[in-house]
Amino acid sequence: MLIRQGFQYVLRLKPRKQALLRRWIGCRRFVFNEALAHQKSELAEGRRRPGYAALCARLPALKQNHPWLCEPPAQALQQALKDLCTAWERTYSSCFGAPRFKKRGEGDTLRLPQDCRYDGTVGVVHLPKFGAVRLRHSREALGELKNVTLRQERGRWLASLQTERELDVALPNATSAVGLDFGATTTIMPSVGDPIVLPLKLGRYERRMKRLQQSLSRKKKGSRNRVKTRQRVAACHARIAAIRRDFLHQRTTQLVRNHGLIAIEDLAVKHMSVSAAGTLDKPGKNVKAKSGLNRAILRNAWSMTRQMLEYKCTWRGLMLVAVAPAYTSQRCSACGHVALENRKAQLFKCTLCGHAEHADRNAAKNILAAAHAMLSANKEAQPGGCPACTAGYAETHACEGAWHPPLRSRPHSAAQGMSVGIPLAGTISELSPSGNLHP
Ligand SMILES: [Zn+2]
Repeated sequence: MLIRQGFQYVLRLKPRKQALLRRWIGCRRFVFNEALAHQKSELAEGRRRPGYAALCARLPALKQNHPWLCEPPAQALQQALKDLCTAWERTYSSCFGAPRFKKRGEGDTLRLPQDCRYDGTVGVVHLPKFGAVRLRHSREALGELKNVTLRQERGRWLASLQTERELDVALPNATSAVGLDFGATTTIMPSVGDPIVLPLKLGRYERRMKRLQQSLSRKKKGSRNRVKTRQRVAACHARIAAIRRDFLHQRTTQLVRNHGLIAIEDLAVKHMSVSAAGTLDKPGKNVKAKSGLNRAILRNAWSMTRQMLEYKCTWRGLMLVAVAPAYTSQRCSACGHVALENRKAQLFKCTLCGHAEHADRNAAKNILAAAHAMLSANKEAQPGGCPACTAGYAETHACEGAWHPPLRSRPHSAAQGMSVGIPLAGTISELSPSGNLHP
């Protein structure tokens, strides 16, 4: 399997080189904004929006008017135009809306797709028009270097090396299956084994963040102290994100190492974390409680966890099954009885058979059972039919025959890794008719 993987390193740069990179990033931002302004003016006059080729053709004239644009490699400026065109393409397929003008510090990166060389023996990357840069070489980047992205974060310069390589996907060593329930208090509750909870030190940084934000709100606008506090807030944000990402990477790797099949819920996190505030005319109810729940949902990074599981399962030949989340928290994992009264806060107690368990653990078992049922029913599942119904959940499953995707493959995003041209493991279409778990 051909895969792409990102390897991130901290750069060791002299102040002179840092200033050069900042200038290059400024040039890139200028080209992006200028091209966007040009596109908008064309659209306003009723003409077609210029595409990538047309925008690239304008670059030489732009360089004549602004000679300082000749300093960075031309490819870096072309990449800005490419990003602009991609942003337009995503306008209608995503929630981001039309591209906006960028200001300093907003998505400031520089991508170099050609003429970069990486020397893994000494930990140096050679960049065009820039020279050799030493990396804080924590690990060797595997595969052939495809592009280098540079950015600044918390005062450090980071380089992300994207490489491509052929990966041998072997059958997973473990044969056990596990169901995972993503929760608000327990980050991940597996059907067997210890619950996975975010590390305590995260809470420490979150409390510091709260204090910093309060302090920021008291600072006078435009003052030097406000700038300094804002930098501290950004640093704290980055630290929290890094702790969470690192923790989830460790735990998801552990999960894919120890299991042959992983079942999760197919949750629409974006819809679940919508604010309940409503509008001025129609104010919502329980706004504060809902906002607390939203914060807990986003704090536990369900989408990021799923993204990590998706590519790690693909790379290791595991099957990742996403089941329809309906009634997983209300169904008794022992007898199958479904009732709203079964679940009381964190405790699950079946009103029919008396089975009592941690509510999340019970849900995780249900998720695993639903995945097994879905896999065994795969042969009977007709295209366009609902696999959750054919899997024997018709009595509780109110889909009325309409298709809703219980297994969803996602477009590849900027996750740490992705596979090229290979669909993700865990889509039901990839199951062989024999029910073979290996994709
Ligand atoms: Zn029961």
